[in-house]
Amino acid sequence: MTEGFSQVLERCRAFLEERQPPTPCLVVDLDVVRGNCERLRRALPEARMYYAVKANPAPEVVRVLRQAGAGFDVAGREEIELCLAQGVRPDSLSYGNPVKKARDIEFAHRVGVRRFTFDSLEDLEKLAEFAPGSTVSCRILVDSPGSQTPFGRKFGCSAEMAVDLLARAAELGLDPEGVAFHVGSQHGDPRAWEAGIAAAGEVTRAVAERGVSLRGLNIGGGFPVGYLSEPPPLTEYAAVVRDAVGRHFAVVPELSFEPGRAVVASAGVIRSEVVLVSRKSAADEKRWVYLDIGRYGGLAETENEAIAYRLVTAHDGGPDGPVVVAGPTCDGDDVLYQRTPYRLPLALRAGDYVDIPDAGAYTQSYSSVSFNGFPPLRSYFVGGEAGGVGEFAGRHVLAEFSGVAAELLDDPVFLCESLERVLDKAGATVCELTYKQFEPHGVTAMALLSESHASIHTYPERGSAFVDVFTCGHKADPELAVQLLRDLLGASVSRVTTIHRGQEDS
Ligand SMILES: *Cc1c(COP(=O)(O)O)cnc(C)c1O
Repeated sequence: MTEGFSQVLERCRAFLEERQPPTPCLVVDLDVVRGNCERLRRALPEARMYYAVKANPAPEVVRVLRQAGAGFDVAGREEIELCLAQGVRPDSLSYGNPVKKARDIEFAHRVGVRRFTFDSLEDLEKLAEFAPGSTVSCRILVDSPGSQTPFGRKFGCSAEMAVDLLARAAELGLDPEGVAFHVGSQHGDPRAWEAGIAAAGEVTRAVAERGVSLRGLNIGGGFPVGYLSEPPPLTEYAAVVRDAVGRHFAVVPELSFEPGRAVVASAGVIRSEVVLVSRKSAADEKRWVYLDIGRYGGLAETENEAIAYRLVTAHDGGPDGPVVVAGPTCDGDDVLYQRTPYRLPLALRAGDYVDIPDAGAYTQSYSSVSFNGFPPLRSYFVGGEAGGVGEFAGRHVLAEFSGVAAELLDDPVFLCESLERVLDKAGATVCELTYKQFEPHGVTAMALLSESHASIHTYPERGSAFVDVFTCGHKADPELAVQLLRDLLGASVSRVTTIHRGQEDS
């Protein structure tokens, strides 16, 4: 059973009352994120879940979902780095965006991502070249009216083309997994999945006739959230999926799904403040209520009034009247609701709060950097592991080397190469490497890692160096990196301290 919006609202409001952060802001309850993840996995236990990071890319959210055992659907280099920095293993990442730069594919492959989705020959050829041997799925275009925020024709190819491309994937030495589709976000009709699964079954059969057997099926995201009205329960979606798979596949495929909204939406509450309440003429029946958040500050999904959020005020229950709801910027499109009938209390005044439940998805990630000077939406977090929130889990190794030859300590190229080599051997991923050489002597070399950072500072005149390696997650071994570096430098004496940071989970 999902928690009602009022319990989440109550917990987030308790935080808001206590902390009084500036508005607008988003409060995310990490326990609700975890609960939603578990509920989705219980509804479809046979499917591997890849959380669509774009719905809410907060590191805190990624961490909680990693701990809950989810994989992650990522769209590019930045989302990959974000996940790796939170200790997600690269084999839990799925690069689901069929529109990719070659250098981003190359980066993904270099850091260990091996699962990709494509929908064109060009992208497939790039995958074969820059991510050789990887597992690939072909996204097909499904016609599924009923999504409140549809994708249109931007993603996916025809079923006929998918057959050719999947057969071609095998020829190119890739590992074709299956068909992927996405019915569009916030889909209120479970039957929408039927059409996608039927088409995927046909493609799978046709590809088998070409001698290539597919083993998977990715049914995407689109699972809805109750904003103003309750959607059908998740179990109904799961039943439709199971039934359709049974009818359209000879062998039950390995299922995967990529929920975004359904994981995070109900976990978040936006607090906004009323800036102005006015009328356009004395006879105007509708009041205009201007909030300090609008289309550009995080409520992007109010475009075309696609998503109608619930608005909650302290005056609820008293007499109300019809309103137009608008945002704070000097942009004519920054109007949230003028066709959707909204009523707000007559007592509502400038300075009052308007709380927006179910706002954890596609809000912070859609807020502009500073349109019209308004800053991006700030996020706060409640729940989650006690003390673990806001911390990185990882190991920080600090070492002092001595007795090192002065020439080595004044050679930045040797130091950078050594640093890169030992980090690589220790399982870390170097994203960037820079150095600075000082007068009369001494070098600082720094590596930015997917897992955090490493640096070395040298004192040739003393024959000593200080080394600092911090890595998040379980993949890299910072102690090994420091040991290997000591060997390369031939240091005779060293002092090493390891600090364990954050909560290590199993
Ligand atoms: C955005 C996206 C999702 C998530 O969609 P929701 O409607 O939020 O569940 C899943 N898969 C892909 C490829 C996406 O682009």
